[in-house]
Amino acid sequence: MFKLLKRQTSGSIVCPSCNQLVQVKEPVCPHCGRHNPSIWGFVRSLRSLGYDYGFISLVIWGCIGLYLATLLVDVGGITSSGTLNLLSPSSRSLLLFGATGSIPVFLLGRFWTVLSSAWLHGGLFHIAFNLVWINQTGPLVAKCYGASRLVLIYTAASMVGSTLTSVAGQYLDQLPPILHGARLSIGASGGIFGLFGALVAYGQITGDEAVGRQYWGYAVVLFLIGFIMPAVDNWGHLGGFLGGYAISRLSWLNPSTPESHRHLLAAITCLVLTVLSIVASVGHGLR
Ligand SMILES: [Zn+2]
Repeated sequence: MFKLLKRQTSGSIVCPSCNQLVQVKEPVCPHCGRHNPSIWGFVRSLRSLGYDYGFISLVIWGCIGLYLATLLVDVGGITSSGTLNLLSPSSRSLLLFGATGSIPVFLLGRFWTVLSSAWLHGGLFHIAFNLVWINQTGPLVAKCYGASRLVLIYTAASMVGSTLTSVAGQYLDQLPPILHGARLSIGASGGIFGLFGALVAYGQITGDEAVGRQYWGYAVVLFLIGFIMPAVDNWGHLGGFLGGYAISRLSWLNPSTPESHRHLLAAITCLVLTVLSIVASVGHGLR
């Protein structure tokens, strides 16, 4: 934490967009044109956390912390029905911490849960599976797009996935059960599908077909597996992929252009709103 607060005021830094040496006081990188390449002197501290500025660790530890919290707040409600549902928190505690779906959004008016639900998980297998995929895919998205854009893509994809499944859960219940949206939905997989979408977009934008093809393959296979396994939120997966792909096609997120401090400020805003959505869920739930 102290390392993160250490501000560099003299000498040179490595531009986070093009990896060239730049004077810390330079307002624009002379090599790639990135504005504020030193990020007000904090770039060395941020980069010491990795390409993703520590976002992936934040997701991993945030999800683990919230999973433990949803277990501990209602120990009597924990269920374990089979390997896939080992150590599942109760629906009540998932609802309290910000599960989304047609019930929370439309019946209870908890619209902000489209942000909080991505940080909650329904069992040991569910959280382990998702965190492995985030750890596998997140660093590549950070490397391709930049740390702040990773946060923007992940947040937008989670939101679109949660919104789509809540709307489908509310309005498409006349479809066959396999095509139902969720009445209650949790999990980081919408965000993960968004990272797949971002890498497919990256392949199209930069012409790096190998990356695009690989992640299109992962998305298709995992999406299809969702129809075989029970209780998988397929609308959340579809929405996450579409959300991640669509935001990645915006010119502001074009991976061929350097990130700026504006992306960082937008990313911080996303993180603050996410924390607030969880706080609001618990506060509203306890009332
Ligand atoms: Zn540069």
